[in-house]
Amino acid sequence: MIDGGEAIRKLALNVARYTGLAPLARPFVGGIGAILMLHRVTATPEKPDSVNRHLNIAPSFLDAVIADMKAGGYAFVSMDEAVERIKAGGKGGRFATITADDAYRDNMTEALPVLEKHGAPLTIYVAPGLIDGSAHLWWDVVEDIVKACDRLTLATSNGPAVIDCATPARKHQAIARLHAYFTTEVREEDLRTVLRGLAASHGVDADAPRLRTLMTWDEIRAVAAHPLVTIGAHTINHSNLKRLSEADARREIGAVKDMLRTGLGEEPSHFAYPYGYASAVGCREVGFARDAGYASAVTTRHGVLRAEHAGFLHALPRISVNGRYQSLAHIRTMLSGVTTPLANAGKMLVTV
Ligand SMILES: [Zn+2]
Repeated sequence: MIDGGEAIRKLALNVARYTGLAPLARPFVGGIGAILMLHRVTATPEKPDSVNRHLNIAPSFLDAVIADMKAGGYAFVSMDEAVERIKAGGKGGRFATITADDAYRDNMTEALPVLEKHGAPLTIYVAPGLIDGSAHLWWDVVEDIVKACDRLTLATSNGPAVIDCATPARKHQAIARLHAYFTTEVREEDLRTVLRGLAASHGVDADAPRLRTLMTWDEIRAVAAHPLVTIGAHTINHSNLKRLSEADARREIGAVKDMLRTGLGEEPSHFAYPYGYASAVGCREVGFARDAGYASAVTTRHGVLRAEHAGFLHALPRISVNGRYQSLAHIRTMLSGVTTPLANAGKMLVTV
């Protein structure tokens, strides 16, 4: 699940691309490498018109991106090696590492064959609660609820709010309203209960999206045994850490290590902040990830890696390879580094 800061990124992309700025800018803003961020990788999405379709790319596009980057001189390395290369200030040449959040089954069935072809390692960030059912893919459930009804009622601090979902345009607005509701109005601790209640009252199965699209523990164990795959942690319950108390946030970051060790036999050394945007991770959370002993932690902030990131290994930006930008020109522009300051108020070194 990623953020809504896409509009500025898209603008920056188009400015850079159409002005021809990207190739010229590279020597100044190019950085030492990049962490690519994926969610879903499938040629056959169940809901091609979904509002969440930007979370998906086609395997053929992933194939094209890796081939193009290799031709451009990128070495594809594991997250362990990426950390070593950042610490070494990028000596050893330009590099990339691929990450995928949430443990979608298609990472194994459709992305991995592409990665095998290229020998490109993958880090998959797992939130055990999404696998066990103590957390939900709520953004998918919200879509199912809105699709299933003509109107719905939310319990808000100002009393019940009736939301019209009768027409396609209204449904679109209702989904945006529910996103705001679940990310800012409902307490993080209550999200699961409120979501399940709303789903049940409209005949929607809140467990269906995660069961349909995420891996089971057996599948995660199988993929974890693959030589190209590293399993990282993504909190226990895919929590917005900034919205939790210190004790709860530290538990979500720390105890997930024990859960993954129990489930997979190995403790994760890499971490991804759920949502990863400014209202979900800041300096406090970065400190918690460092304290928990992870070797690295990634956000969803947009940016290429720079040598200075050696001092910010728990606040690493990524380049989202998502459905909105399925063109090699867009990927090249983002990798050139020119969009990094454009999307970050002029900052070349993106942390939190
Ligand atoms: Zn996630």
